[in-house]
Amino acid sequence: MADTCIFCRIISGDIPSDMVFQDGELVAFRDVNPIAPVHILVVPRRHISGLNELGEDDKRLMGRMVLTARRLAHDQGIAESGYRLVINCGPDGGQAVQHLHLHLIGGRKLDDSLG
Ligand code: 5GP
Ligand code: ZN
Repeated sequence: MADTCIFCRIISGDIPSDMVFQDGELVAFRDVNPIAPVHILVVPRRHISGLNELGEDDKRLMGRMVLTARRLAHDQGIAESGYRLVINCGPDGGQAVQHLHLHLIGGRKLDDSLG
């Protein structure tokens, strides 16, 4: 999977990225095509294709993804102004990269519409 998945290649260091957080389980890097001043992707190191592939054993991982995004929002200075966390799933959800990721978006007033 690491050969073909762009996020696995970023995690392995094969493709450069602007990393803002790493631990044994998660990485976070800036989106290459940001839609707001802060646009960071929180990504599990393990290749999971998306929300539909999550199992019961992944509850803790998901919780850590959300709490990591919240901490990064604080570190980026947008905790008080506010932000949005988004996970796209499948074609209708607009998922372009088939490796689970959580978008942390903020630093400007976002559209009220959720699409
Ligand atoms: P999705 O549409 O799957 O929820 O979001 C995928 C995101 O990954 C997009 O916002 C896109 O800009 C970002 N992305 C795609 N390829 C790369 C890359 O090579 N590097 C980085 N940093 N972000 C990427
Ligand atoms: Zn992957």
